[in-house]
Amino acid sequence: MASNVRNQSEKIKFADSHIAPLSQIHTGGNAEFLSRPSTLDQLEAVVSFAQREGLDLTVLGGLSNSLVSDSGIDGVAIHTACLNEMHTQGNLLIAQCGASMDELIDYAIENGLGGLERLGGLPGTVGGAVYGNSGAHGLYTAHHLYWVDYLDEEANLVRLRAHRESFSYRHSPFWGRSNMIIYEVAFLLEPIVHTNEARQQKEQFKGQRRAKGQYLHPSIGCIFRNPDGQSAGQIIDALGLKGTSIGGAMIAPGHANFIINTEGTATSADVKALIDLVKETVAEKTGIMLEEEIRYLGAW
Ligand SMILES: Cc1cc2nc3c(=O)[nH]c(=O)nc-3n(C[C@H](O)[C@H](O)[C@H](O)COP(=O)(O)OP(=O)(O)OC[C@H]3O[C@@H](n4cnc5c(N)ncnc54)[C@H](O)[C@@H]3O)c2cc1C
Repeated sequence: MASNVRNQSEKIKFADSHIAPLSQIHTGGNAEFLSRPSTLDQLEAVVSFAQREGLDLTVLGGLSNSLVSDSGIDGVAIHTACLNEMHTQGNLLIAQCGASMDELIDYAIENGLGGLERLGGLPGTVGGAVYGNSGAHGLYTAHHLYWVDYLDEEANLVRLRAHRESFSYRHSPFWGRSNMIIYEVAFLLEPIVHTNEARQQKEQFKGQRRAKGQYLHPSIGCIFRNPDGQSAGQIIDALGLKGTSIGGAMIAPGHANFIINTEGTATSADVKALIDLVKETVAEKTGIMLEEEIRYLGAW
């Protein structure tokens, strides 16, 4: 079936399908078809192809908040890394979905636009940050979001005017929707005169992450959402679970809401088993049902 479908599609180039090297936690199997479009035309062709062939579509951004199944991803996986252009238009900063959030903030400052500094050092892409309304230090991606252009399930390009109230903690109107892809977004930012100050602020926020050891080991960031008014990390820490490991996956000794791939030997199944262990232990000891912030991609 795979080579059959491959032959039917002349417009689409499929890439090497190994996902683990793309994943920030270095785990996960292969994609049936992995595509890395670099233009809107190519992206539309891939989405139409998946729709025509009745194949599932999975979007891979920076894979810094997703766990990909060891058995891989069926259907078409779109890796957005080559859709990474950005430009400014007045106070609007317009970026394609695969642009790195950290580089986007630098670019904004270079172009005299500020407001995103508190997200300095956030791993991953613009598309992933919008999808999960990623945030740090009280600032969420949606705060400065102006519009989002996305391809819907029928490959139509649709513009969503971003209203802050339709986004919430780690949640966006795109959350849970399948077979669509955020293509390009605009942030409405503030003009800044003192770009050096903004650059320093951004680097300070990034430095805080470095000082906490966030970049030391492969991980996918916080595994669990914070329950109302509480910190998931503190709950897990209080139960003495830091350092617990299954296979090559370990609850980070420095941050109980992170799971790290200590020696590079972990599988996604190890990570999932550790997640299940934490959920069960927390539920049993505290009655709190932790919910994942991360997304599971592929067949689980
Ligand atoms: C060291 C570290 C620190 C982190 N710190 C933070 C933090 O402070 N705050 C925070 O919120 N998160 C944090 N994270 C988690 C993660 O970096 C963010 O959530 C990030 O914004 C995810 O972006 P991504 O491109 O990696 O998304 P991915 O993991 O690739 O994707 C996440 C979800 O978005 C979907 N998606 C991605 N791109 C698109 C698109 N173009 N269209 C449609 N759907 C798409 C995917 O299908 C998936 O369901 C951290 C992670 C790490 C490893």
